Amino acid sequence: CGIVGYVGPQPALEVVVDGLARLEYRGYDSAGVAVLSEGRLETEKRAGKLENLRRALEETPRSADGIGIGHTRWATHGAPTDLNAHPHVDNDGRVAVIHNGIIENFVALRTELEERGCKFASETDTEVAAHLLAEELKERGDDDLAAAMRSVCRRLEGAFTLVATYVGAPDLVVAARRNSPLVVGRGDGENFLASDVAAFIAHTRDAIELGQDQVVELRRDSVTVTDYDGRPAEVREYHVDWDASA
Ligand code: GLU
Repeated sequence: CGIVGYVGPQPALEVVVDGLARLEYRGYDSAGVAVLSEGRLETEKRAGKLENLRRALEETPRSADGIGIGHTRWATHGAPTDLNAHPHVDNDGRVAVIHNGIIENFVALRTELEERGCKFASETDTEVAAHLLAEELKERGDDDLAAAMRSVCRRLEGAFTLVATYVGAPDLVVAARRNSPLVVGRGDGENFLASDVAAFIAHTRDAIELGQDQVVELRRDSVTVTDYDGRPAEVREYHVDWDASA
């Protein structure tokens, strides 16, 4: 339902949770975050209101710096429970994924992954993406999260915005889209992504709208967009001049 990502010097956890609060108007049944800080990937997720997530975050103090991604879920596959909330992680806890939309061919992918020994923690369609990314990264052996995302997306059917962080690429958030919205907010030494500009409008009004079947690599000082084959892609850059603060 709602997606936020942040790479920059501000406390990532705060930026991400604030962004999720700005997307609350869209409705949701669960919320979660992942923060990658000093080589450690930590996630927290809760069914119910953002307040439940906030309380859980307060109970377990953690480093708020680094890079962060956050999600508000509108369940399509699997009940709205803590376990089914996003982010979803692979079995080694090295990749975290959030997702809007529906992965139509997830049953076949899940069966294939289970045959290869992957253990699933949720009933969601989304979780296949976390395991697929981890498997792809292992096969590649090069920590190239964007390349792994491109090849995973080529295998997915349906509508999705996918966002991932990976312990092996600590300066980077990667996202991809097909039939589901994704916008990037360009800052000065920091960059944002979201399903809706409302999530980052308090920080920047310089936006990039991703096209169909594109992958973006977000770092503090750069935004790189390619198609699923890795070719540089055309994007639409624009300035948000309407009042989105309400
Ligand atoms: N299909 C996914 C799920 O049920 C994502 C739903 C959403 O867009 O929030 O977890």
